[in-house]
Amino acid sequence: MKLEARTKRAAVFLTIVMCCTLLGACSKTDTTTDKPNLEPAKNGSMTIKYVGNSCFYLTFPDGTTILTDPYPAKLEAFFGPAPDMEVDAYTVSHYHEDHTPDMKQLKGKPTTIVPAMMKEPLKVGDVEVTGFPSKHVSTLGENEIFVFRYGDLKIVHMGETDKIESPEALEAVKDADVVLTYTGEYGPQTLDNGDIFQYLYDLNVKVLIPQHFSNHPEAIFYGEPTIDQILKEVPQGIETIKLDELVVTKDMKKQFVALSQMNAK
Ligand SMILES: [Zn+2]
Repeated sequence: MKLEARTKRAAVFLTIVMCCTLLGACSKTDTTTDKPNLEPAKNGSMTIKYVGNSCFYLTFPDGTTILTDPYPAKLEAFFGPAPDMEVDAYTVSHYHEDHTPDMKQLKGKPTTIVPAMMKEPLKVGDVEVTGFPSKHVSTLGENEIFVFRYGDLKIVHMGETDKIESPEALEAVKDADVVLTYTGEYGPQTLDNGDIFQYLYDLNVKVLIPQHFSNHPEAIFYGEPTIDQILKEVPQGIETIKLDELVVTKDMKKQFVALSQMNAK
């Protein structure tokens, strides 16, 4: 009798578990919302999505999420909706207004990674973050080149620099799977975008993704080029594609990838 009651209870429990699983599965597929998909990378993949200006949303196979150079809401007219998602960490390449978020702009309690912290590599989840000082393109200020390593994958965010001068930084950028490359305003101190792209491809970088350009052609931020201008400067023989997100793998071809903005749909 006792055994029978236990079996019955087990059956009821199993039924509840199965219903919950099914309901969970249904609710997962029912994502009819305008919000971007902020789920961590699935199936062991690493993905890169573009927010605007120099800001990217990186997700790693262990679920770690990192934002690069989030910009504040007051610059939305230039770059689109400001990032406010919950992430594990965000990086700041330098302290100009278009590379730093407002206080409490991001949900949760993300770790802020600033240049002064980069004397040693640091870990965010299973991601190793390394920093290399470089010169900002148009001021005497400093900039940090950030390198994110996960397993054998290497992603580099250039921040607001085009010339890579230190041998350590050069070594770090070499053979990168992806470089989020500066493509900013034209000026006497900046290299032409086409020259930067060629230079990076010569360092055996596989995929270049542009950042730091005017996201709205009608709202130009400090003379920065538009994506259409940038695409004309991609070196000949390099395939150019447009994607909503890049899934980073070791099998990627040498490409120039223009990411659409994740919030601009
Ligand atoms: Zn900037």
